[in-house]
Amino acid sequence: MTDPNDNVAYECKFCRKPGVITLEGEFSNRIKKLLSLACCNRCGDFFVAKRNMEDRIKEIALSLYTARLTKTAQLQDIVGLAREKLNKLTHAYAELVCRYWRITTVWEPDFIEQIFDHPRMSLQICGQYFKMAGQLVKQKQTS
Ligand SMILES: [Zn+2]
Repeated sequence: MTDPNDNVAYECKFCRKPGVITLEGEFSNRIKKLLSLACCNRCGDFFVAKRNMEDRIKEIALSLYTARLTKTAQLQDIVGLAREKLNKLTHAYAELVCRYWRITTVWEPDFIEQIFDHPRMSLQICGQYFKMAGQLVKQKQTS
């Protein structure tokens, strides 16, 4: 190998921000072929944090779904606890997403109500929120 340190330009697949990655070692050529999948640190950190939060929301939503299905004696307690936890988590999720899009945090009680109405759809509901916030950014840019 002639050049052990190989600096390669890439574009973040999410935000299109240009970046440079230093490739070294025997896998350099293989990694070069994957550059179209590369993302910047900001997007990388965001999507990991977003995914973790979505997993926690999903866990609570599914416990709610199961409790309703089995008509457990603790249903009232579980519903109360789920509402409390989802209140905190959806607020944190909204903050995370809006910080990523660089807009003022938007949160509505409907976020929780939708999860309560469709607990098995919690990931899709989070996904819709993420898209909606992204559309707000586009509206801001065009207005
Ligand atoms: Zn990015």
